[in-house]
Amino acid sequence: MSTIIEKIKDLKTKRNAVILAHNYQRGDVQDIADFAGDSLGLSQQAANTKADIIVFCGVHFMAETASILCPDKVVLLPDEHAGCPMANMITLKQLRIKKNEHPHAKVVCYVNSTAAIKAESDICCTSSNAMKIVSSIPKDQEIIFIPDKSLGGYVSSKLNRPMILWEGYCPTHHRILSEHIIILKTKHPEAKVVVHPECTPDVIALADHVASTTGIAKYCKETDAKEFIIGTETGILHRLKKENPQKTFYAITLLADCSNMKLISLEKVLWSLEDLVYQIKVPDDIAAKARLAIQKMLDLS
Ligand code: SF4
Repeated sequence: MSTIIEKIKDLKTKRNAVILAHNYQRGDVQDIADFAGDSLGLSQQAANTKADIIVFCGVHFMAETASILCPDKVVLLPDEHAGCPMANMITLKQLRIKKNEHPHAKVVCYVNSTAAIKAESDICCTSSNAMKIVSSIPKDQEIIFIPDKSLGGYVSSKLNRPMILWEGYCPTHHRILSEHIIILKTKHPEAKVVVHPECTPDVIALADHVASTTGIAKYCKETDAKEFIIGTETGILHRLKKENPQKTFYAITLLADCSNMKLISLEKVLWSLEDLVYQIKVPDDIAAKARLAIQKMLDLS
């Protein structure tokens, strides 16, 4: 009798499907994926794939981004309830009011946002290219940065560039506290502290390195240090341990577990391929506008 993994592989071939998984997915889901990475890497993979079907192991906005970039492909999200609380912290109405208050401002939109919000924005960014995207906008141009105040604040302070920040945040990353780092540093004084820019400023202030999940993976691989204290969603530890078996990784807190990301399981990936559920399709008019903002980002990346 075939195992669930064999069934997924078999069906994937029959349907000419590709499986994309975010670095925050469960380890077994990352392992079955054709590509595991961060939002930017996954968008690039989606944009370039020759597959007919994309199974997106992530949250809703990621599957929407794939649908925007590949309007002719079937995009599947294995659990229709896998949303992102941060993406839901801004509505179209709220954004339009803010734009009216600042009619000359450019809107830079973190990809962790709905398709409708992207469609109302000038350019998108991810945590790995936010600095580059903001730097591409003339210095005298006012910027509204949505929806993550932590990423926006980090970019703003690094570039010494004031921006109007939306009050959104990632609840998962905000569970990581500076107190946790101080305690871990006492136990492991040689360990490097590596955190994601969705963390709060006091956590970022204690970090040796701040990066997207792909940037974190690269840093941990290339740095000589043997121990790392990791401040991002705990799913990344699977990849870090797998890629660096001789190194030791400590999660700053196991509370940094995104229950939405973890809704995807191997069983749901299989059911998704069997029944072609749940199909995510962004309406053409919204997709056309959102594509412009995403494409501008991809061109600059
Ligand atoms: S980790 Fe944060 S930003 Fe990512 S999906 Fe979960 S809630 Fe959203």
